[in-house]
Amino acid sequence: MNSPTTMPEWEYAPAPERVDPGIADRHRLFIGGRFVASRGRKTFETINPATEAVLSRCDEANAADVDAAVESARAAFRKWSRTKPQERAKYLYRIARRIQERARELAVLETMDGGKPIRESRDVDIPLVAQHFFHHAGWCDKLRYAFPGATDPRPLGVCAQVIPWNFPLLMLAWKIAPALACGNTVVLKPAETTPLTALRFAEICEECELPAGVVNILTGAGETGRLMVEHPGVDKIAFTGSTEVGKRIAAATAGTGKRLTLELGGKSPNIIFADASIDQAIEGIVQGIWFNQGHVCCAGSRLFVQESVLAEVIEKLKRRLGTLRVGDPLDKNTDVGAINSGPQLATIQRYLKEGTAEGATMHQPSTCPLPEKGFWCQPCFFSDVQPNHVIAREEIFGPVLAVMSFRTPEEAISRANDSRFGLAAGVWTDKGSKIFEIASRLQAGVVWLNTYNQFDATSPFGGVKESGFGREGGLHGLRGYLKF
Ligand code: NAP
Ligand code: MG
Repeated sequence: MNSPTTMPEWEYAPAPERVDPGIADRHRLFIGGRFVASRGRKTFETINPATEAVLSRCDEANAADVDAAVESARAAFRKWSRTKPQERAKYLYRIARRIQERARELAVLETMDGGKPIRESRDVDIPLVAQHFFHHAGWCDKLRYAFPGATDPRPLGVCAQVIPWNFPLLMLAWKIAPALACGNTVVLKPAETTPLTALRFAEICEECELPAGVVNILTGAGETGRLMVEHPGVDKIAFTGSTEVGKRIAAATAGTGKRLTLELGGKSPNIIFADASIDQAIEGIVQGIWFNQGHVCCAGSRLFVQESVLAEVIEKLKRRLGTLRVGDPLDKNTDVGAINSGPQLATIQRYLKEGTAEGATMHQPSTCPLPEKGFWCQPCFFSDVQPNHVIAREEIFGPVLAVMSFRTPEEAISRANDSRFGLAAGVWTDKGSKIFEIASRLQAGVVWLNTYNQFDATSPFGGVKESGFGREGGLHGLRGYLKF
């Protein structure tokens, strides 16, 4: 291992306007600090969902690969957990800076592999990824001050981390940065449809000379994830994904002594009071549900509008929705990109049919011509929705909003809380006193006030009820990676 003080200083190269991310035809697993072929020799394709073009072929990790990755993480843990905190911090700072330097390339790659608008990858995802590493670099040597009374917080060991496809590199950062800051080592699996930025991150770890085995990246399907979380050599599982898979993991983990945090699905309420600034609230609704094609666990997918302003909100929403540009995710003027995969598009279309069949009215005012290839869904909303409608209860994970109304604050709270999920909520009002009363009574891990879908490394994020448990980000996020 090189001493961090001998590491090269990175030079800042201004990024060119158009970046070719240079995608190799074949990607291998990253185990023990090296890119290696899967023992099983099985591979899968990852495509660009906006064009259906095959981008690359990745290895599908099997049981022997999971064994090797866990073993390498275990071996690395012995040293990494004893590495001086300020040395660990240097690696995290270096990774953060390298992410900034390669930001344009990472943003283009994220957009090509997953379908999200380049403006979002460039301005939201990748800057937040870097911020997460900077933030956690700062924690490395302050852990004993973070938790007064806990004199010697210790890392847990080997962490198995499984992430979804909606914010691939950001979810990786949410998992890897705190784990490493606390002295753990990791085996991470990206989602099957978006493996490429995690593998580019592995390259960054190599460039930063992170000790071998501290980070291992296994690509593969759900089965690879199952093998990882059920592996006896794992001390902690961090999972972000569907409530269904989360429940299966919780059942498999029960009684094993492994630590577990789950970030699962949501059906979050966005509540607009008549006294709110309606124009501002309209922007919040747009940001809440059409950001990232609605592939957002905390999307404000249930809109509750106070009855006296319902007609006004619906009219303004229709007009605003008609201005959204849907199409080529690599075009910097695009607002709504491609749906992440064919199966996800089929799921969304099933809900659209179901909403209409249940008697709700669909509004789809965007008239953008859609590309012939790729997976597309015009952003839309339903009015005349009843609280018992399927589109008001189940997570659609697409650009589809269910609009409902309420009369009194009491009714708003009880309708908002009438869900098996409890991830996030939004409240729009000009009355400060109302804000605090309502926020404190909403069953949600995160409540946004006069804003929506804002993220920051210093703010803890996570759910209640069937949206999971444990927090990521901020001081609270560190708890999930320490014992004391
Ligand atoms: P998913 O099917 O649960 O998949 C999530 C990850 O788990 C993927 O890497 C997946 O691999 C893997 N996986 C599948 N089956 C597994 C198993 N039996 N054991 C271990 N891992 C397994 O969810 P998704 O459809 O990709 O993502 C959408 C869901 O994630 C939504 O419900 C959304 O709300 C939730 N989400 C929550 C948050 C949050 O912070 N709360 C953030 C983002 C997304 P494959 O890709 O190969 O299937
Ligand atoms: Mg892909």
